[in-house]
Amino acid sequence: MVQFKSLRLTGFKSFVDSTELLVEDGLTGVVGPNGCGKSNLVEALRWVMGETSAKQMRGSDMSDVIFGGTSSRPARNVAEVTVVLDNAERKAPAMFNDHETLEVVRRIERSGGSNYKVNGKDVRARDVQLLFADAATGARSNAMVSQGKIGALIGAKPSQRRLVLEEAAGITGLHSRRHEAELR
Ligand code: ATP
Ligand code: MG
Repeated sequence: MVQFKSLRLTGFKSFVDSTELLVEDGLTGVVGPNGCGKSNLVEALRWVMGETSAKQMRGSDMSDVIFGGTSSRPARNVAEVTVVLDNAERKAPAMFNDHETLEVVRRIERSGGSNYKVNGKDVRARDVQLLFADAATGARSNAMVSQGKIGALIGAKPSQRRLVLEEAAGITGLHSRRHEAELR
């Protein structure tokens, strides 16, 4: 599996200045008072892994992830999140497997959509989503337990619960690739 090494945010939500979080081996905890940006950090991780829903980012439009300004700082027009992955075990999809380290960048401008780069090269959102689908992580992964999710799982239909089991079994990436192949 690819390993997270670091997360870097610039202009993303409350992280107006460039901020880097290193992910060491073992457990990483983020602590701080209410409103300091803990949930924003988790959302940055989801976003760079290909989240497409502004609602999942607690906004109404995707450009709401860009720093919106405070009484002392003007708003920004660009937000960027970078996640660095260790691919020493070469477990990434074939198109990325020449690289020992993968630097995935998602960038959004207020006036336009967002784009993705891996090690400096433009890639599709789909490529990034598949990279993380294989790593059993991903923007919608059940490894990320957000508020209300446990209750929703208990009340879910069997078909929805099956999706959770498929992800746990590590076959979600295969399903998306089969779906893509069928569309071709
Ligand atoms: P809690 O402990 O209450 O869950 P938290 O540490 O998870 O708090 P977050 O929800 O991550 O806090 O951060 C909320 C803060 O981020 C608020 O102060 C909010 O104004 C700020 N924020 C969110 N989006 C933006 C944005 N686009 N521009 C500037 N600030 C933003
Ligand atoms: Mg929070």
